[in-house]
Amino acid sequence: MDEAVLHTARAAILADLRARGLEDVAAVSALEEAMSQRRWWVEQWPDGLPYVAGLVAQDVQDALLDAGRRWPECRHCPAEAPLHTLAIEPDLGGPDPVWVCEEAGAEVGPLGGLA
Ligand SMILES: [Zn+2]
Repeated sequence: MDEAVLHTARAAILADLRARGLEDVAAVSALEEAMSQRRWWVEQWPDGLPYVAGLVAQDVQDALLDAGRRWPECRHCPAEAPLHTLAIEPDLGGPDPVWVCEEAGAEVGPLGGLA
């Protein structure tokens, strides 16, 4: 188990939650829950390690969406565009996950690098 990879993944997602002002108790607890499930998953399947960060980000997106919250909102597009969120690519979660705006067909930045 490569703890550094898990630690880096958690820090990256936390940074991107913070970048959108969503670093609150509910969001952080969704992150912890996703981390613990994916930790178990990667213990069963060590080759999945490169996918963990992107998968956790997707898990957190899903958990927030279930609570009626959308993250991360796209700031790549003009402010007058309807509110929409970014997606993780590759869809499998990795390796080297990046945020993309599917509306614009543009890569916005690496996971953990939202401004
Ligand atoms: Zn966009």
